[in-house]
Amino acid sequence: MLPVLNEATVATFKAGLRGELIEPGDPRYDEARRVYNAMIDRRPRLIARCVDVADVITAVNFGRHNKLRVSIRGGGHNAAGLGVCDDGLVIDLSPMRYVRVDPKRRTVLAGGGSLWGDVDHAAHAFGLAVPAGIISTTGVGGLTLGGGLGHLTRQCGLTIDNLLAVDMVLADGRFVSATAKENADLFWAVRGGGGNFGVVTSFLFKAHPIETEYAGPMLWPLDEAAEIMRWYRGFITKAPTTINGFFAFLTVPPGPPFPEHLHHKKMCGIVWCYTGPAKKAEQMFKPIRGFKTPALDLVGPIPHPVLQSMFDGLYPPGQQWYWKADFVRELSDEAIALHIKHGSKLPTMQSTMHLYPVNGAASRVKNNATPWSYRDAVWASVIVGVDPDPANKEKISAWARDYWTALHPYSAGGAYVNFMMEEGDDRIRATYGKNYDRLAKIKKRYDPGNLFRVNQNIKPAK
Ligand SMILES: Cc1cc2nc3c(=O)[nH]c(=O)nc-3n(C[C@H](O)[C@H](O)[C@H](O)COP(=O)(O)OP(=O)(O)OC[C@H]3O[C@@H](n4cnc5c(N)ncnc54)[C@H](O)[C@@H]3O)c2cc1C
Repeated sequence: MLPVLNEATVATFKAGLRGELIEPGDPRYDEARRVYNAMIDRRPRLIARCVDVADVITAVNFGRHNKLRVSIRGGGHNAAGLGVCDDGLVIDLSPMRYVRVDPKRRTVLAGGGSLWGDVDHAAHAFGLAVPAGIISTTGVGGLTLGGGLGHLTRQCGLTIDNLLAVDMVLADGRFVSATAKENADLFWAVRGGGGNFGVVTSFLFKAHPIETEYAGPMLWPLDEAAEIMRWYRGFITKAPTTINGFFAFLTVPPGPPFPEHLHHKKMCGIVWCYTGPAKKAEQMFKPIRGFKTPALDLVGPIPHPVLQSMFDGLYPPGQQWYWKADFVRELSDEAIALHIKHGSKLPTMQSTMHLYPVNGAASRVKNNATPWSYRDAVWASVIVGVDPDPANKEKISAWARDYWTALHPYSAGGAYVNFMMEEGDDRIRATYGKNYDRLAKIKKRYDPGNLFRVNQNIKPAK
């Protein structure tokens, strides 16, 4: 049973915070407990909007002393809703949105509640970019701690491969830094182990001199999808690491920049991102365009923050989300046939399936160098059911589950943690593979009471 908090205890907590403390009954409560996925409807006892490290220390200590369930909220994008919890305390980092770029060292410091759009915007002014995801409203916190896949994965590695340091508040309220040299075990664990080890109050990243890419989507009709997939599997496994391209099944949105004759059409596509010399871009794309002329080709020079936010409008917060994922080492002809069977039945306009390459720079890192244990996979797949209408919740979930059930036997086993719902311990163990036991030992050292358990939870070793 959860402990009852008396008014005086809450009032003392509130007085110790610079940020807001929001309780049920507060007019701000419903907005403060809302997360990106509208399927999630949790009612926390308290939401502490932390503005600084001192607030985070106060909140962690309060949660521990009062034996509360504690969740950590970064950007609120987690599809399983792991930034928010029922009856417990939400440590909401959303006021800690700040970015500082050091152009000489080519580093970027981001507050624990920053969004990727904040980083893209600030770094771009200095001609720099940090590898991130493909939607700019996603939180730096959750995406980084789970790994981080996106347009620059083949060129620059996962987001965690570009992480230099974190500042954290641990379960016992201590504030520590972790780098490859300082608290190296903790630094190993946070590069893929999620929010299991403490509240990260800031992230320091290595940035890359990437300003304008040659990038964007190319679309083909569904009846060419099998041919495109077969060509794509060969191309992306051999392509130079200056080019990334993720494959998708999608429905063309009914608006610009898409031509009217394609509106609402189910198609397949590849979203490309080339970061090599601009003068070589056309040459690089000659064989791609030459293989099969796309029905729509929107690939061209694009500033990095524009590419990063290209799909934001299609995926605003407040829609129903349900997704299922796997890692994939091989895309056999049989698997392609099943992809086409299920991918051609996209249940709603925003539903999609993505195959994100994890080869190239990301695969140069060993499976045990970070907890992210599928560096030898070629893709991370994600089947995404999305729709604004709650009445379609079952429809999109059933489609994603059926699709996944058909393809899972062709997968490598686990899935990217950031593409998982709450799927139980076996899935988490499959995802971390041989790295799980090491994570469990580090968890025992830094969070033996499992205070931070609203996440893809790693149980402290016995
Ligand atoms: C539309 C959309 C697009 C996406 N695209 C991509 C993509 O391209 N690439 C990719 O890799 N992933 C992608 N994701 C997945 C995304 O990485 C995860 O959903 C991630 O959990 C979101 O992080 P957040 O901070 O926004 O989430 P939150 O819901 O705020 O947090 C999720 C969990 O992360 C942990 N956490 C967050 N911040 C901190 C912190 N500062 N300290 C400690 N723990 C913290 C907590 O355990 C929390 O439970 C996408 C998700 C969505 C919804």
